[in-house]
Amino acid sequence: MKNKEIKILLSAPRGFCAGVERAIEIVEKSIQKYGAPVYVRHEIVHNKFVVDDLKKRGAIFVEELEEIQDKSRPVIFSAHGVPKKIPADAKNYNMTYIDATCPLVSKVHREAENLNKAGYHIILIGHENHPEVVGTMGQLPSGSIELIQNEIEAKNYNNKSNKKIAFVTQTTLSVDDTKDIIQILKSRFKDIQEPKKEDICYATTNRQMAVKNIAKQCDMFFIIGSRNSSNSVRLVEVAKKSGCENSRLIHSESKIPYNEIQNSNTIGISSGASAPEILVNNFIDDLRNRFTIKINEIEIIKENVVFKIPKKLN
Ligand code: SF4
Repeated sequence: MKNKEIKILLSAPRGFCAGVERAIEIVEKSIQKYGAPVYVRHEIVHNKFVVDDLKKRGAIFVEELEEIQDKSRPVIFSAHGVPKKIPADAKNYNMTYIDATCPLVSKVHREAENLNKAGYHIILIGHENHPEVVGTMGQLPSGSIELIQNEIEAKNYNNKSNKKIAFVTQTTLSVDDTKDIIQILKSRFKDIQEPKKEDICYATTNRQMAVKNIAKQCDMFFIIGSRNSSNSVRLVEVAKKSGCENSRLIHSESKIPYNEIQNSNTIGISSGASAPEILVNNFIDDLRNRFTIKINEIEIIKENVVFKIPKKLN
């Protein structure tokens, strides 16, 4: 196979975003400051490689505070954000907690809260059960925020409250699908209030645009990322919709389809915001061992976003 030449279009930007870098740094610095173990509520970011690495360094992952036996140890909340009840419970347990919620998710939380205070009934556009959605809905009293997941739900939505409505969105949605849902809501509810600045974050937007830019030129497209990573799964959808039907997610248990790759001339590669670059490099190395590869990185925008970690960890 080594004489088969394959062109790789490497999509950029890809991989870690500022919110993920910050969340991982928060766990690392917490272990340095407080010693091991440090508890983390939910996967700090949705990537098995990252989680396994932090486990080795002394992080223990739990889904709920109740699972933590030694409540004298600190607990970190994941980048996806948590309902208001969680820090309140941690306080009641007298626990030290560090919030690694991405500032761009916190922005949506504050927005929903302010709109609610201003008398609006809130619609959240997002995916049911995703921890970010659970966290955002949990900022407001139950019944004051409702979830819309797709165009059909937007078409069928009835505002049963006696309030005006406003919408916010999950940060990691498909830019194009969300536009369509918003369009439906705007056409049905003329005075619906929208966020001042879009809620889908810069990292999600840039990674989708970069994939969209090259998908048509590719016979296959591979997105490195976990199955529960919303933005990674969205990148696969974007690649398919933008002209590369044969697009796949490569996660920790994926079998790489070498036979299909053998029949391709050009393949695209990108990675979700929670996937470390080493996984992209490992994937490329696997291809290099079997094929003659030529890599062309196509960057559509430079990112220079950095988020500070909480002062108490400095
Ligand atoms: Fe923050 Fe966006 Fe990264 Fe999520 S994907 S952690 S919202 S920057």
